[in-house]
Amino acid sequence: MTDTPLRAAIIPVTAIEQNCTLIWCTATMKAAVVDPGGDLPRILAAVEQAGVTVEKILLTHGHIDHAGEAKPLAEQLAVPIEGPHEDDRFWLARLDEDGRNWGIRGVVFEPDRWLADGDTVTIGDLTLDVYHTPGHTAGHVIFHHAPSRFAQVGDVLFQGSVGRTDLPQGNHKQLIESIVTKLWPLGDETAFIPGHGKPSTFAHERAHNMFVSDRALSA
Ligand SMILES: [Zn+2]
Ligand SMILES: [Zn+2]
Repeated sequence: MTDTPLRAAIIPVTAIEQNCTLIWCTATMKAAVVDPGGDLPRILAAVEQAGVTVEKILLTHGHIDHAGEAKPLAEQLAVPIEGPHEDDRFWLARLDEDGRNWGIRGVVFEPDRWLADGDTVTIGDLTLDVYHTPGHTAGHVIFHHAPSRFAQVGDVLFQGSVGRTDLPQGNHKQLIESIVTKLWPLGDETAFIPGHGKPSTFAHERAHNMFVSDRALSA
């Protein structure tokens, strides 16, 4: 992604190896932390190493591994939390309870801004588009930076897989619909960071993903 004003660094956090992602604007060195599920010292070390100033926290959805320590980080850095979509209120309200079950610290909160389909969020001079992509959770959103052909898709799509839908409020049919109607139109060349595992491209998934390849969906 040279010659683009956006840079991203993955910081795996929690025992579930969630891809907390530091995204920054190279022109202003302002950054957003996406999905700070836990391991705050590791996140802060990455911020320091990148030499950026965090101006906000963005959340794709309300699961514990993505949102567990969003509130403590927001307080420590004195920055707002934007996202997810309000339909994930269910998950944010039970972060403490889920944290106890998973052995992760979970702090209940309400974001400073709920996000909706068609919204935009800024990071320094960058503007990212917000898409509401329900299915894994009802209030899941993804972030897309069109000039860089880059997306942070949380637990919607993975390299070789898709988000699980067996948890409360999950809906597999809706998830596939979100991928086909919200992600694919962003373009095959789109590079994405998923919530877990390795980055990939939409082209690669449309060719090889056993759940959502063009061949799988036309079968
Ligand atoms: Zn999740
Ligand atoms: Zn996850």
